Amino acid sequence: MEQNQLDFDIGADKLREECGVFGIYDFDGNDVASTIYYGLFALQHRGQESCGIAVSDTEGPKGKVSTHKGMGLCNEVFSTEHLEQMHGNIGVGHVRYSTAGSSTRENAQPLVLNYVKGTLALAHNGNLVNAPQLRHELEYSGAIFQTTIDSEVIAYHIARARVSVPNVESAVAKAMGKLKGAYSLVIMSPRKLIGARDPFGFKPLCIGKRDNAYILASETCALETIGAEFVRDVKPGEIVTITREGIGSNTEMCFRDTEKEARCIFEYIYFARPDSVFDGVSVYHSRIQAGRFLALDSPVEADLVVGVPESGNGAALGYSMESGIPYGTAFVKNSYVGRTFIKPKQSSRESAVRIKLNVLKEAVAGKRIIMIDDSIVRGTTSALIVNMLRDAGAREVHVRISAPPFLHPCYFGTDIPSEDQLIAHGHTVEEIREMIGADSLSYLKMERLQEMACSRSICTACFSGNYPIDPPAEDIRGSYDK
Ligand code: SF4
Repeated sequence: MEQNQLDFDIGADKLREECGVFGIYDFDGNDVASTIYYGLFALQHRGQESCGIAVSDTEGPKGKVSTHKGMGLCNEVFSTEHLEQMHGNIGVGHVRYSTAGSSTRENAQPLVLNYVKGTLALAHNGNLVNAPQLRHELEYSGAIFQTTIDSEVIAYHIARARVSVPNVESAVAKAMGKLKGAYSLVIMSPRKLIGARDPFGFKPLCIGKRDNAYILASETCALETIGAEFVRDVKPGEIVTITREGIGSNTEMCFRDTEKEARCIFEYIYFARPDSVFDGVSVYHSRIQAGRFLALDSPVEADLVVGVPESGNGAALGYSMESGIPYGTAFVKNSYVGRTFIKPKQSSRESAVRIKLNVLKEAVAGKRIIMIDDSIVRGTTSALIVNMLRDAGAREVHVRISAPPFLHPCYFGTDIPSEDQLIAHGHTVEEIREMIGADSLSYLKMERLQEMACSRSICTACFSGNYPIDPPAEDIRGSYDK
């Protein structure tokens, strides 16, 4: 293998989720900034480029919002002093990885907007397919944007709608009538916390409760982290309004025919944390199921099943349970390789992958290995890992992927590269097997995805090309930076 391939960063060949959102309203008046921080910490896997928190006091003057945001991980952006200085019993938080809009501090969320009715703070997960049109519509009427992200377009449309409707939740509903695409929103108004999910339900959003406080979060793992109990998921298309009176719900935007819903199947396969439950389906369980299906559909004789950490581990365990082949650990991951990791130069003998992942020679030497991973994007990392197993003495390496081949880009908030960069686009499975140097290669069958999600309606567009919403005529991903 050539040196430049060895220098490939393992993180660059993985798909990335765009964002995680969190909101809380404490009716007892306790400060919530620290709780938001810990919630965001639990959602850090959903975005590592920037993060932010905005809080307000529901008893204080309307429009007084304390905000802190910046580039980096939660523990880099926030100090104890920051959190102690942020007073307020209602707030929203956000972690971000950019797919549309560049990676700059201005684009960090939550967005805080002052307008005639007070202040609005908004955190958004997902991508709109009609953001350019909505942006132009506002620009032609004089709006000046400070960021290049979809979320500002949403915030403006809500603010504009608010002038002609009686309350902020009606303004959210009116704005939602214009939005096309994926969005899970958490919005703070001076006296209300609002959560909304697009009618397709691409991205998760759930409600939790701790003592006298209600919480909204992208994933249930964030509820567990702060000691809150799960109440329920926000339904696809639903707007929930949290006030001292309780939880109000508007389901007018929900599809009558729930088969139109389109949860991102990649949340189950890779993005979400295994200890989260998304729309009633355990992420861990769905990964175990994927492994079982691979064992049933693509059996092979071997001595050991291993997962590529972390998301390959659940499917590897499932494969082992179904096949009876022992499950083991072949890789040791260095968790301290962070965002600021300096990649080795081309001439360096150290490979970025090797720095991040080592093989346990004692576990694999002389064995026939089944290696389970969640995806092959460009193929470079898979080739490296297979090579590392062989170097460590593996006799055979059989690769099983707990998703079908990636063939199409995503326009809904996932950073899937363009088709020409996807190895499965233009190559047969046999060709890919040869390129990554495996003895055999199989993917999860398309028809298994539905079973993995316990028959919930799902989006499979990046595998099937069946987009729940027509893709935009031009590639909108990062369009404002072109
Ligand atoms: S296209 Fe793929 S990654 Fe994008 S929302 Fe659909 S299933 Fe998820």
